Amino acid sequence: MVVEIKHILNLDDIEAFEITCAECKTTISIPLAKCTRTTPQCPRCGQHWYRGGAADNDAILTFARAIADIKAELNHEAKFSFRVAFSGCDSQDSR
Ligand SMILES: [Zn+2]
Repeated sequence: MVVEIKHILNLDDIEAFEITCAECKTTISIPLAKCTRTTPQCPRCGQHWYRGGAADNDAILTFARAIADIKAELNHEAKFSFRVAFSGCDSQDSR
């Protein structure tokens, strides 16, 4: 039997996004509340992070706005709750 542990996060648990450069492994943290723009390249080594220019960058900003919009809805007595589940972080084979 495989026991899978799921991690459940409330949106309020999300404080920031982290972007790690594939080239030099520098990590930058962007607070969710301040995620109105991201940097297109690594501040340390200058590696360009997005293949096609702004498209991928826009996806990150859209994701940040979606989280902010859902949080705003939840703060106005929404008739639902919203959490994010992650799986596969830890597993045990209890045979
Ligand atoms: Zn870098």
